[in-house]
Amino acid sequence: MEFNDFGLAEPIMKALASKNYVTPTPIQQKAIPALLEGKDLCGIAQTGTGKTAAFALPSLDYFARNPKVTPLKGCRMLVLAPTRELAAQIAQSFRDYGRFLKLSVETVFGGVPINKQIRVLAGGVDIVVATPGRLLDLIDQRALTIKDTEIFVLDEADQMMDMGFIQPLKRVAKMLPRERQNLFFSATMPKEIEALAAQFLNDPVKVSVAPQSTTAERVRQRAIFVNQAEKQALLHLMLKSEEIDRALIFTRTKHGADRVVRFLEGAGIDAFAIHGNKSQGQRTTALQAFRQGKVKLLVATDIAARGIDVSGVSHVINFEIPNVAEQYVHRIGRTARAGAEGIAISFVADDERPFLKAIEKTTRVKLEIETLPENFMEAVRNMPKPAAPKKGPSQSPQQQARRADGQRKYQDGQKQSRGTPDRAHRPDSEGGEKRPFRRRRSGGPVGAHKSAVQRTGAPRV
Ligand code: AMP
Repeated sequence: MEFNDFGLAEPIMKALASKNYVTPTPIQQKAIPALLEGKDLCGIAQTGTGKTAAFALPSLDYFARNPKVTPLKGCRMLVLAPTRELAAQIAQSFRDYGRFLKLSVETVFGGVPINKQIRVLAGGVDIVVATPGRLLDLIDQRALTIKDTEIFVLDEADQMMDMGFIQPLKRVAKMLPRERQNLFFSATMPKEIEALAAQFLNDPVKVSVAPQSTTAERVRQRAIFVNQAEKQALLHLMLKSEEIDRALIFTRTKHGADRVVRFLEGAGIDAFAIHGNKSQGQRTTALQAFRQGKVKLLVATDIAARGIDVSGVSHVINFEIPNVAEQYVHRIGRTARAGAEGIAISFVADDERPFLKAIEKTTRVKLEIETLPENFMEAVRNMPKPAAPKKGPSQSPQQQARRADGQRKYQDGQKQSRGTPDRAHRPDSEGGEKRPFRRRRSGGPVGAHKSAVQRTGAPRV
């Protein structure tokens, strides 16, 4: 099967040709025909399967064939994603696939000035890609209405639930018009996600691709037992001994991520951190630098890294392993993309052994247990001192990047990061330092979310 077989509108085919897409991925093969018929869809698929094009292409085709004036302060299509990074990535895909169509695409998420978004939305926007918190802020301020939405997409629904977005989603559901096409995607489909799907979908076509273990099969999964306090020394050794093109290093908490970056800095190794305490400018810059290969190491929390599509990630290093098995699957899915092979290395401290067991049970894969490298004790003794924590804008990745290549092109991002100094203490959806990451089953956000939720009805990502 080829893209030609779908009968997509000419401008879309032209865009696909310019991206050298010839063969649709399995989710595209299954989803696109049903969506072109206007059906609702419930898809079980992870990022990396091509699901963005699966929902973007038929939607763009619909708009190409049904031109309409965009409603003032309204949108024709609403895509909800759990994180800003994913929202930005989806919007970029719409721009790429729709580049020969005259459609407006805008992202709506927190961490950037709301006034600019209000101005942009005033005239109406064809395709809005949003995170739930800022979307509801804008609706509450009467800057946006979703009552004219013709196509609604809920992406990464399981992650939305994990992040406590259930109540905001219910609010969104009530504001959508009755007549619309609905698309719902989730990497996993436990009962509570099915219940959420039922609220949005009307007699959907069900499509499921690549059960979670298939990504896992292409990833060589290794694990090393090591004391928590000695993980930095092990990381240092690994970075020296492994052939790493590009590595994502995962921690469970934001502070944990910062600590790893400071340690690496102390060891003279460049790395950026990406997590909810970083301003949008910092996150974008860090991701861009990683994507462009300017920095080989990105230290991330689960939520910040969710849905990130960066090709050529040779290694995923679980500096701390997740206490939710599904997160492990999402993490290692960042490597071995598009058929490539990848390596995942997990550092397992004593208290993380039960998590390892749970992961092996979920993935049905036994991790290769390795012994500590021979020169490990020496590495522990000579462990470099971490760099001192820096305060304020001097610690931004933009500055680090500028220092690194002596260019001025990061200035924009820095301005943004200066513009949002309060974010350093803003509660967000990534959990506090001491609070373990938990799966929330019954909707309501807990703990650190509370104040953000009370203010706006939704936690911000
Ligand atoms: P997604 O799962 O939507 O994040 O897509 C994963 C990656 O696959 C993205 O980099 C897409 O640009 C790419 N992609 C999606 N569909 C195709 C296709 N049919 N052929 C080649 N690459 C694709």
